[in-house]
Parts: sequence; C-alpha cells; structure tokens
Amino acid sequence: MKANMPGIFSQYIIHADLRPQQQTRSSGFFKLNIYQTKQLLTELDNQLSQANMDRVEEVSQRLMDSICCQIKKDKKHVPALRVHVLGVRPSDDRGALHGLYEPADSDRYRARMYIWMRTAKRHEVVAFKTFIRTLIHELCHHLDYEFYQRQESLHTKEFYRRESCLVKQLWSCLDNESVNNEFSIG
Ligand SMILES: [Zn+2]
Repeated sequence: MKANMPGIFSQYIIHADLRPQQQTRSSGFFKLNIYQTKQLLTELDNQLSQANMDRVEEVSQRLMDSICCQIKKDKKHVPALRVHVLGVRPSDDRGALHGLYEPADSDRYRARMYIWMRTAKRHEVVAFKTFIRTLIHELCHHLDYEFYQRQESLHTKEFYRRESCLVKQLWSCLDNESVNNEFSIG
C-alpha cells in the first residue's frame, strides 16, 4: 500500500487546491483542556526528538482524540479520526507532501490523516512546530467535513485563519497561558 501512496495522495491534493473558494460561517467555540494538551504536546516533542515513529503516532493519536473530544456541536463531539505517522515525505519536482487527509465515506467508517515525520531530501526528523502545524492542518480538513458538514474541504483564507488560531491555542497551552483558552471556530 505504501508504494502507491504518493500517486493516490496527489489526487487529493490537486482536488483540494483547484476548487474555487467558498464562504464560511461562524459556528461555535470550544475550550482546550490546557493541562491535558500541554502534557500531550510535551510528550510528542519528546518522542519526536527521539525519532520514535510508533510512539509519535501513538501520542499524535491521543492528541487528536483529545481535541476532537473537546470540539462539540449539538452536544456531540467531533468524531475521532485515525492518525498514521509515516517516515520520509513523498516528493517530486513540485515539492514534498507533509500530510494528507482522507474523509470518512461509505467504505471507510473513520476518517484518516497521514503525517510524514522526515524531510524528503535529508531524511531528518521535522521540527516539532512544523509537525504540529501539519497535524492541525489535517485536523482542520476533518472539521470542515465533520463539524461544518461540508461536502469538500478547501484551502480558503478562513481555513488558514482557523488553522493559525488552533495552532496559537496549542502554543498558549504549552506556555501555560490560561488567558486565551477559549478559542472560537467558524
Ligand atoms: Zn490541506
């Protein structure tokens, strides 16, 4: 399955990038559990620095589970998704793939995200902040489908704004800043 991945994945990337932008609307807010999030981020940083792929995947999964559990709509939380952490980023002359999201469908009960943890050229472990930003980027695709109930997920300005807000929220957890612990999405 791994050998076919870049071809399969590039279809999704092209699909996502070429569609026209669409309007978004405000939908809700949530508060991250600072203590829990900080613990998971610290553990993830630690495992990433040790280049332990299995453990990075496990902690990334727990972090995504934790965040999905905290984002609620109509008293239901966003469904969890399966996190796959892989090695060297697939690449070609257009660049390297950092991550990919596959929505749930009739054949696939759970949505999935794929994150690569080593750079394409030097095969070095990616920086912690880059890794987190990719995780959150793929999570934002998940929110488009599961929170906003959209049929597709596009790289709109609003998408990137939401991604930045979420990333900022994570960093404030790491810095123990309780002031900004309410994050609005939408
Ligand atoms: Zn994307």
